[in-house]
Amino acid sequence: MPFHQQIQAKMDTPEDSFDFTPDMIEIPEIFRNSLDKKPFERCISCDKYLLEDGTPYVIEKTIRNYKEHNVSDVIFEYAICMNCMANMRQAMSKESLEKMEQYFMSQVDPLERQLQLLNNETLNIEPWISHCMIKGTAREALDEYQICCQCDGKNIVFTIMPYMVGGQAMEEMAELLSAKSRGEIDDFMDNNFGLPPELEKELGDFKYVLI
Ligand SMILES: [Zn+2]
Repeated sequence: MPFHQQIQAKMDTPEDSFDFTPDMIEIPEIFRNSLDKKPFERCISCDKYLLEDGTPYVIEKTIRNYKEHNVSDVIFEYAICMNCMANMRQAMSKESLEKMEQYFMSQVDPLERQLQLLNNETLNIEPWISHCMIKGTAREALDEYQICCQCDGKNIVFTIMPYMVGGQAMEEMAELLSAKSRGEIDDFMDNNFGLPPELEKELGDFKYVLI
């Protein structure tokens, strides 16, 4: 076999394709802006441009499911840069953050989760967000849920995120927060979303887990 054909044959062998395990994929539609289906371009808090390589940020969406009608509605969605996220966490009480972390670690083994989910050769996002990470409830069975993913520029990065958390787990987490932390999150929501009071009331504890 001529040399160039040997090379071609080698390149075509399936083993070679398995050598490449990507840990990033392009941001899938579920994590794009629900109105124009384009990736979020800017941090909701500081307006930083996010789609440049090496820019870490997080996308969060809160979604309400109308099971009886088989439709869902995005209540709110945004991208926030790591700097603003860190500032937000700093403003929250240390005690609240520790409690949240303890709760989380008592329910989820992040490494186990990552190994399990990365164990498919194609990085399919669906298994990461198909069930509540804490309670295991299927997404279709939930009235409300939140999905999060971590990104770098135009790509999604696989860490503990992406994940989905359902309403019940969110309520349990919200109960762990101090009044101070709840106040900080209220301010953040007011500054960035200006939610109408009826929606604010309707959301209840739901918003407290967003950060
Ligand atoms: Zn920012």
